[in-house]
Amino acid sequence: MKAAVYRGPKDIKVEEVPEPKVSARKVLVKFKAGSICGTDLHFYRGDWKIKAGRIIGHDACGVRADTGERVVMIPLTYCGSCYFCQRGMPTSCERYGQFMGINRNGFFAESIAIRPKYLVPVPENVCDEEAAIVEPVALALHVMDLLKPNVGDWATIIGQGPIGLLMTQVAKLKGCRVIAVDLEDYRLELSAAYGAEFCVNAGREDVVKRVKEITERGSDVVVEAAGKTRAVEQTPRMVRNGGRVALVGEFKGRMNFEDADEACFFTTYLSPVEYPMAVHLIAKKLVDVKGLITHRFRLRDFEKALQAADNVVEKPIKVVVTK
Ligand SMILES: [Zn+2]
Ligand SMILES: [Zn+2]
Repeated sequence: MKAAVYRGPKDIKVEEVPEPKVSARKVLVKFKAGSICGTDLHFYRGDWKIKAGRIIGHDACGVRADTGERVVMIPLTYCGSCYFCQRGMPTSCERYGQFMGINRNGFFAESIAIRPKYLVPVPENVCDEEAAIVEPVALALHVMDLLKPNVGDWATIIGQGPIGLLMTQVAKLKGCRVIAVDLEDYRLELSAAYGAEFCVNAGREDVVKRVKEITERGSDVVVEAAGKTRAVEQTPRMVRNGGRVALVGEFKGRMNFEDADEACFFTTYLSPVEYPMAVHLIAKKLVDVKGLITHRFRLRDFEKALQAADNVVEKPIKVVVTK
């Protein structure tokens, strides 16, 4: 079968690989559609390294070969019975906490053998393309649930890529007033369409000053979804006293907490727990993922898909790959 295989930086190509083996515990899922994530681009650009020969991809849907049911695949593996799993933190699973498409084979392949516990059924009114963009929705739900904003709170979302744009949508669902921050106007236009009250171009404006002006005493909650050290470093100066900050895109930086009295900072990752709700919100049209799609390719043209996702001139947001 064909799969997108990582060989090294700028070297991710579609190759012929052996068919996956179905065991008593695993079922075969035939690939329908998937989307390229910022993580895949980090591998492509050479920022992050993974094992050569790894099949990449961690956001995709397919069809179960045994039942014919359409399913979304959860990329995290967890045991359910270790210290962290029993405390509701499967992402930190001590037994086999791994991430498909990163430290085990992922979804950009014609088929995959996977345990049914990692499969979420897709309702009929959710199309394949929509079911290919569930991971950032699940992440946005996870982050906003941890931030626990109150109705009417200011939520400043730094970075309006796919994750940031979904944070903007979920923050609106939580009743927040959103300040969207990005360097690209074409992304901020979408933020406004999704209900952001203020859109700040960090290339032209002093973001910290602007957030302080808008909110008077600082943002109640702040999300770093730009993946930039500089954005991490700005968060203590944007949050109000006693507010909350989630670091999602980047965890490094030199932070000064002088202006962030009693504020709470935390890092956060994806969790499998929110997947069913993510699919449900897409089905109910409460979260829009279709509007994020800027490019479409076939799996056999995977390299072209990566190139488009990596080329700012093409104004990419979400690049979808179908069978
Ligand atoms: Zn991802
Ligand atoms: Zn575990």
